[in-house]
Amino acid sequence: MVISIASGKGGTGKTTVATNLALSIGSNVQLLDCDVEQPNAHLFLHPVFERTDTVTTPVPEIEMDRCTLCGKCGAICEFKAIVVVAQTVLSFDELCHSCGGCMAVCPEGAITEKGRKLGVLQKGHHNGIEFIHGKLRVGEAMSPPLIKEVLSYRDPAKLTIVDAPPGTSCPVIETMKPADFVLLVTEPTPFGLNDLKLAVGATKILEIPCGLVINRSDMGDEKVKAYAADQNLPILMEIPFDRRIAEAYSRGDMIVDVMPEWKAKFFGLYQEIKTLAER
Ligand code: SF4
Ligand code: SF4
Repeated sequence: MVISIASGKGGTGKTTVATNLALSIGSNVQLLDCDVEQPNAHLFLHPVFERTDTVTTPVPEIEMDRCTLCGKCGAICEFKAIVVVAQTVLSFDELCHSCGGCMAVCPEGAITEKGRKLGVLQKGHHNGIEFIHGKLRVGEAMSPPLIKEVLSYRDPAKLTIVDAPPGTSCPVIETMKPADFVLLVTEPTPFGLNDLKLAVGATKILEIPCGLVINRSDMGDEKVKAYAADQNLPILMEIPFDRRIAEAYSRGDMIVDVMPEWKAKFFGLYQEIKTLAER
């Protein structure tokens, strides 16, 4: 089973839920941190890394001695990442989406592939949890290919928990697509509700069952709960504001380590998700 943990809005406690859930289930679990622009699950889980791989994406390289300046490569490129200018062909690696179109249409076979670095992928473990995350190169705009690479480590023999990026754009959709269940972490504020509605909309389009965790549930207003009732969304957990949780977070500690009574609550959350996903 794949559980994607998402939140329309950043800073709602998505990573806290993902890491504590993984630790509470314990064995036969993998945690994939797909928030590649700002991965931080490792700061709480403290995995031992055993591998670091560079991840690249193919971009065109032009052999000008074979090129006849026919212009077919520039004509097919939707992103203006390759253009014929005067007596040469220019390619702009940062704009290229690696679709391969220019290479396919070049009649002279003058375009080959070279790799453009997207970032790194690191693989490690902690207490029996397999941990994988991607770190996008600073300045890199395209995160979905690196997210796909992290997701390719899904092991069907294990429970996979995916820590999704915040928001509702392409990177989040990429991390929701393989999910059997999407757990949305939100907070009871107007911003939280607004972004929750967008995230719920995405799960409806993808037709994936979802449920809510309300963080800092005793602050803010009741509108998130009213929305959940209206939309028939199960509220699977409420985490009240607690100074001990905030302090643990700021130290990089796990809730279940400093307040062991939460371990059973997170395990119960997993069992509820399992029941809902199977249904
Ligand atoms: S691979 Fe696709 S996106 Fe990149 S330059 Fe060629 S046609 Fe454009
Ligand atoms: S399609 Fe090939 S031959 Fe034509 S301009 Fe581009 S690189 Fe040159």
